[in-house]
Amino acid sequence: MSTPEDLSVDIVIVGAGPTGLFAGYYAGFRGLTMAIVDSLPESGGQVTAMYPEKMIYDVGGFPAVRGRDLVKGLVEQVAPWKPIYLLGRKAEGLAQVDDGVELTLDGGQRVRAGAVLVTAGIGEFTPRPLPAGDGWLGRGMVHFVPALDAHQGQDVVVVGGGDSAFDWALALRPIASSVTLVHRRARFRAAESIVREVRDLGVRIITDAEVTELRGGDDGGLAEVTLEIKGGQQEVLPAQSVVAALGFTADLGPIENWGLEIDHRSIAVDSTMATARERVYAAGDVAAYPGKVKLIATGFGEAATAVNNIAVLLNPDAHLFPGHSSNVE
Ligand SMILES: Cc1cc2nc3c(=O)[nH]c(=O)nc-3n(C[C@H](O)[C@H](O)[C@H](O)COP(=O)(O)OP(=O)(O)OC[C@H]3O[C@@H](n4cnc5c(N)ncnc54)[C@H](O)[C@@H]3O)c2cc1C
Repeated sequence: MSTPEDLSVDIVIVGAGPTGLFAGYYAGFRGLTMAIVDSLPESGGQVTAMYPEKMIYDVGGFPAVRGRDLVKGLVEQVAPWKPIYLLGRKAEGLAQVDDGVELTLDGGQRVRAGAVLVTAGIGEFTPRPLPAGDGWLGRGMVHFVPALDAHQGQDVVVVGGGDSAFDWALALRPIASSVTLVHRRARFRAAESIVREVRDLGVRIITDAEVTELRGGDDGGLAEVTLEIKGGQQEVLPAQSVVAALGFTADLGPIENWGLEIDHRSIAVDSTMATARERVYAAGDVAAYPGKVKLIATGFGEAATAVNNIAVLLNPDAHLFPGHSSNVE
C-alpha cells in the first residue's frame, strides 16, 4: 500500500466504505487512476467499524453475507486496478485548481485529481473513549477488531452494552481463552436475541460495573483490569486485551466547509450524482435526493452512476455507458 507524498490521480474517493470501494472498482473499469482516502485505519466504513460479524441479507446476489466477507470481496474486486489507499488519513480541504480539484489531507499531503467523489457515509467515526484506557490504545486496548486471530488464546474484556459489544463477545468466544462483557448499566441496548446467544455461549456478563484501571504486566503488555461494581465492590480480571465497544460519534467535519449544499449531514446531488460544486460528486449514505434510501445496495448503484459520469467529464469523447463487464476478458 503506497502512501507517497503529493500525488496526482484521475479520481480521488473520500471514504473507503462499501460505496467508495465499489466506486474504486468502476473507476478502474473505466481506466481511471484513483486514490481512496479514509480516516479509519481499515477499509469497510460502517460495516467494518460497527458490524463486521453480522450477516447482511439484502445485498444482491448474496442470500446472506457476513459484513467482514462483503468488505473482503469489495477489496478484492478493486485490487486489480491498483488503488492508492490513503488509510488513517482524513480529508480536510478541497480547492478548485486548473482542470481539477486538490484535496488536502491531515498532515498536509495534497492529492490532485480531475474529480473528487465523496463517499463519506455518515462522516468520520470517532470511537467513544474508555477513560480508564487512556494511553492503552494499540497496547492491548482496541475499539474494533479487524482480525479476530489477534485475540487467539487471550483473556478478553469487552466493554459496552450495545450490538457491537455483544457481536465482538460472540465472535471472540470461540478463539479467546475467556471473554467477559462489562457494562455500566443493568440494561443493554443490544437486541435481546444476541444477549441470549452470548449468555448461552458461556460469556460472563458483569453489569452495573465500570472499568476503572488497566494495568500492565512485567512484559509491559496489558495484564489485568480493575472493575468498580455498584455498591463499592472491586474485582480484578485477567486481560491481555480490552475491546472498548462504547460506540462511535460521526461527524462530516471538514466536508461541511467544502461549499456543498448540505442538509441534515447529507450532500445534495442531481441524478448524475454531481453536487453543487464543479468536479465534486457524492454517492452512498452521504448523498441526498428526494426518495433516497440509505442502503449498501443503493450506494453501489450510485457509485456506478457517479463514476461513469465522471469518466465523461474527464473525457468528453467517452461514452457514459461503460459497456458490460461480462464482455471484458
Ligand atoms: C448496525 C448496522 C447495520 C446495518 N445493516 C445494514 C444491512 O443489513 N443492509 C444494508 O444495506 N445496510 C445496512 N446498514 C447501513 C450500511 O452500513 C450503510 O448504508 C453503508 O455502510 C453506507 O456505505 P458508505 O460507503 O456510503 O458509507 P460508510 O460505510 O459510512 O463509509 C464512509 C467512510 O468515509 C470515511 N470518512 C468520512 N469522512 C471522512 C473524511 N473527511 N476523510 C476521510 N474519510 C472519511 C469514514 O471513516 C467511513 O469509513 C447498517 C448500518 C449499521 C450501523
